[in-house]
Amino acid sequence: MKPDPLTKPNPAGKLRTAIVLLVTAWAIRWFGREMLCERCGQSLGRVLPMFRKGNLRLHGLDDVDVFVDFLDRNILRFRHMYPSCCKVSPLEFK
Ligand SMILES: [Zn+2]
Repeated sequence: MKPDPLTKPNPAGKLRTAIVLLVTAWAIRWFGREMLCERCGQSLGRVLPMFRKGNLRLHGLDDVDVFVDFLDRNILRFRHMYPSCCKVSPLEFK
């Protein structure tokens, strides 16, 4: 009985994924910019913006909970999502 091609392990796909993750991490480290919270000024992380197919992707914010909105037509505003992460007092957190 032949193994099902859908459940067959794909070592080439795993290697490709590992290489893409490694190159992305390297690019974030060398070409990324530090992104700061608009409220408290604390660092949200190192970010590498990339445009693809009409989308703006911010590599490097995978593990951070961030609230994003437009301050102006051309300006995005990044803030901590939860008061426990932000240095601003919870009473001032809106
Ligand atoms: Zn903050």
